[in-house]
Amino acid sequence: MTKLIFRGNGDSMGVPRIYCDCEVCAEARNTGINRRLRSSVQIEDEDAGTIWIDCGPDFAKQLEAAELREIDTLLITHAHFDHIGGLVEWADACRWTNKKGRAYAPAEVIKEILDRFPWLGNQIQFQSFDQPIQLGKWKVSSWRVNHGKNGYAYAFRFENDNTDFKWVYCSDSIGLTEEQQEKLAALDLLVLGTSFYHEPFAYETRSVYDVVEAIELVHKWKPKRTILTHMSHDIDIRRTYNLPEHIRFSHTGLKITL
Ligand SMILES: [Zn+2]
Ligand SMILES: [Zn+2]
Repeated sequence: MTKLIFRGNGDSMGVPRIYCDCEVCAEARNTGINRRLRSSVQIEDEDAGTIWIDCGPDFAKQLEAAELREIDTLLITHAHFDHIGGLVEWADACRWTNKKGRAYAPAEVIKEILDRFPWLGNQIQFQSFDQPIQLGKWKVSSWRVNHGKNGYAYAFRFENDNTDFKWVYCSDSIGLTEEQQEKLAALDLLVLGTSFYHEPFAYETRSVYDVVEAIELVHKWKPKRTILTHMSHDIDIRRTYNLPEHIRFSHTGLKITL
């Protein structure tokens, strides 16, 4: 059995934003329904152990919330700070426990990480993830997706050898080409990043889809179920926004059996 657990569902700044007094940030500070750490998921698998996607600056807090002291495998979508800011802390933990960490990322992402933090390679073994890998019964493949003005990221597709369950994690993307959309067909579950409900800024300044676009894309891709993540303070999850029934906002601790 495999469980997917959302440990963070915020955009690059998380919610609340330090400078902001909007209603969503105020609620996040007070009652905390909209409190969102940087986007990350835990995959708990009976064969592969604890797999984690992305290691942002909230990584240590997220691990504590999961009541974990270590992970078995890390998958990294891209080298933006909100997705790798916790690597330094993880590397320190690996040093103190004398266990080398294992991280998979596409080769160009590994290069970007090690150019900035060359010493991480002492504690973390980075393995290139340009070809599919096998984690337990899951065949996992990666592909490059457009990330708007922020360049590129990768999305991951998981296919279970036994159950044929297929799901994709795509937290940071916008303006996917038809070719980049091919791996999004016939999914049981899609996890898609949407920073705003309806982002008001000029298209060329944007980097992540919004909810309005996601509804249209889901209509095209037809996943059985869609969970939205990577949400900024623009989205108030106390509201329903009349989302179609098969599309839902994630929340911290949301657990799904795959
Ligand atoms: Zn991001
Ligand atoms: Zn990004």
